[in-house]
Amino acid sequence: MRPLLVALPLALALAPVARAAPPNVVVIVGDDMGYADVGFHGCKDIPTPNLDALARSGVRCTNGYVSGPYCSPTRAGLMTGRYQQRFGHEFNPGGGPELGLPLTEATLADRLKAAGYATGLVGKWHLGGADKFQPQKRGFDEFFGFLGGAHSYFPEKKQADTILRGTKPAGETEYLTDAFGREAVAFVDRHKAKPFFLYLAFNAVHTPMHATDARLKKFEGIKDEQRRTYAAMMAAMDENIGKVLDKLRAEKLDGNTLVTFVSDNGGPTMKGTTTNGSVNAPLRGSKRTTLEGGVRVPFLLSWPGTLPAGKVYDHPVIQLDLNATALAAAGVAAKPEWKLDGVNLVPYLTGKEAGRPHETLYWRFGQQMAVRHGDWKLVRYDTAADGGNPGTSPQKLYNLADDIGEKTDLAAKMPEKVKELEAVWKKWDAELAAPLWGGGKKK
Ligand code: CA
Repeated sequence: MRPLLVALPLALALAPVARAAPPNVVVIVGDDMGYADVGFHGCKDIPTPNLDALARSGVRCTNGYVSGPYCSPTRAGLMTGRYQQRFGHEFNPGGGPELGLPLTEATLADRLKAAGYATGLVGKWHLGGADKFQPQKRGFDEFFGFLGGAHSYFPEKKQADTILRGTKPAGETEYLTDAFGREAVAFVDRHKAKPFFLYLAFNAVHTPMHATDARLKKFEGIKDEQRRTYAAMMAAMDENIGKVLDKLRAEKLDGNTLVTFVSDNGGPTMKGTTTNGSVNAPLRGSKRTTLEGGVRVPFLLSWPGTLPAGKVYDHPVIQLDLNATALAAAGVAAKPEWKLDGVNLVPYLTGKEAGRPHETLYWRFGQQMAVRHGDWKLVRYDTAADGGNPGTSPQKLYNLADDIGEKTDLAAKMPEKVKELEAVWKKWDAELAAPLWGGGKKK
């Protein structure tokens, strides 16, 4: 007999189950990044060692999307886990602080706070400036950053102090991306003893094009001045993401923290957008279009011990899923009445679920539309992407499996496929609200 070997598993089976502490959640967002401009997508002139390390430590999604080709709509989708057009948040809320994420919608911060998480936003909010819309009214215990859509990176040069700590001017003087990194690390330090949710929303690499001299010097080999500044701004963001990841490791929290990274939309490369020197190759199109260049973005999830390391995942996923994934990780059961459009990606990324998380993904941005159904994409996009004047293209059909650059329009060849996708999209479109602001009319 070998009693020890028998007794040990039995003892383990009878022991009370020690519940692991729920994981921390760190959701990192970059702003207006080009699809091509990260090392893990093959970028050569701008090193992104920390984002590359994050990719190696987890899962890189090659078909990672955002639900909006613009800043605020994508952030509204991320915070709610719902297609933002369902509640009228189709465009950026221009026209004053009285516009913002509708109060009918609950945010990820609301839900994680209710589950006992310490919640903090460091960075750009862009979901409303009026008191009732401010981060600390939308589930965040703490806020350091700015409320609008863009900000100078040299805060002391601004006349009014619009970098806030909570609701008060922060008196910030550091280069903004460095300040956000510093505050993110401090947030982790303050809350390391209990589960926390950190939403680290950089405005890098959105205009204005401001970089520090030291970083510009590193990139003096890049001749194009805008690209050089962009590279220096990207390096600043990557460095500061590295500081946060280092802090998680130093506190031995990295194994119990879900870290995600996306850009809020593609690089603005066409006339009429806030061009910053970004490159979306091999994708076509730009920020403000429903072409792949507007909505397919760098997309990472890392959760060592739970998600595989160094995995490349090819089925389509969307930033709405990060909300549902974070909730599931936190042990929060999503209620049917929340009507989340995102799904928990963990079983898909671990291989427990073999199918696609989504058979269909949808976009609507004014007159522009797109639907991805399997590998087929039907799209009406802003013709400024082709170098023309702003306008809306006819519907075009692409097979993304062998045409990632949306070069060969198959609409005339495959009218039945066009009809099928159009019907799928129209069904979704009929569920949406009219835009609450901007863009004029629906559709
Ligand atoms: Ca953006």
